[in-house]
Amino acid sequence: MASISMMKAAVFVEKGRIVLEDRPIPRPGPGQALVKVTTTTICGTDVHILKGEYPVKPGLTVGHEPVGVVESLGAGVTGFRVGQRVIAGAITPCGQCSSCLDGFHSQCGGRPLGGWRLGNTIDGCQAEYVVIPDAAANLAPIPDGLSDEQVLLCPDIMSTGFGGAESGRIRIGDTVAVFAQGPIGLCATAGARLLGASQVYAVESIEKRALLSKQMGADVVIDHRKADPVEAIRDLTRGRGVDVAIEALGTPGTFEACLRVLRPGGTLSSLGVYSGKLVAPYDAFYAGLGDQKIIATLCPGGHERMRRLMAMVEHHRVDLTPLVTHRFRLDQIHEAFELFSHQQDGVLKVALYP
Ligand SMILES: [Zn+2]
Ligand SMILES: [Zn+2]
Repeated sequence: MASISMMKAAVFVEKGRIVLEDRPIPRPGPGQALVKVTTTTICGTDVHILKGEYPVKPGLTVGHEPVGVVESLGAGVTGFRVGQRVIAGAITPCGQCSSCLDGFHSQCGGRPLGGWRLGNTIDGCQAEYVVIPDAAANLAPIPDGLSDEQVLLCPDIMSTGFGGAESGRIRIGDTVAVFAQGPIGLCATAGARLLGASQVYAVESIEKRALLSKQMGADVVIDHRKADPVEAIRDLTRGRGVDVAIEALGTPGTFEACLRVLRPGGTLSSLGVYSGKLVAPYDAFYAGLGDQKIIATLCPGGHERMRRLMAMVEHHRVDLTPLVTHRFRLDQIHEAFELFSHQQDGVLKVALYP
């Protein structure tokens, strides 16, 4: 009998503890692929998991942003080869259920967030190897010549941020406000610009993020410690309000501010992860008669989405490598979580190398 080969994996043990453990290298089942992870990253959601704010099963390997190489293919997976460089989205839809066929891949299986499996309901990719479910729907070959770090943000941050801009149905000539310029907000800013916004107003107080925001396409960055962003944006639009307001922080205050900067008939595109209650005051909501739309988006996944995002990188429409600010080996996972969760040293995203 072949001996079981082992790998290192970052495992959620209990609230406050994600530790590196030895785990057997998994075998891909029918329709699955085993990917050797070459680069991955830590998401804000992983910090929620670490703090026990988002519950997952103890013993689960975390991480949902894989860049790697096909190690082996399960039965029935065709069209890929061992050694091929691939990514998979943070969301790995089955591509076959009624939700998927209805266009709601992220809600695969008809369950809320059902498409989010890696590092949520199945073992994730902060490990040396990860099994990608429904490989035919999810493996996306990396175009030749692109580095791991160039595509590292495609699985989640870029897909989510762009998704917020797309869900807002930004049209050429729109004015757009983006509240908060963390990694996802920065991608929403880049997405708004790409979709043809005439003006993008970003709200951010951290100087380094404000600078990057300009680089990503913001025309004005409002420091909310120095000015009331609602007033500032109202003034910038000469009282008209913006066509689309993107919420990329996840607080009741920024949600309300988004409503308050929106013109009647505008769209609030929500990307934040909230807890507690959101409030829509009657004056900001025009007593429910303002024809505004509120839309929420979970990161779009699947290989076609990944192909499109990587094409934008390949053809130099967007460069997100400035967002990768720190690098760690997988065995430095504690340091990486420490730095990332406390937002030390101007960190935006960390690259983890198994
Ligand atoms: Zn994430
Ligand atoms: Zn599905």
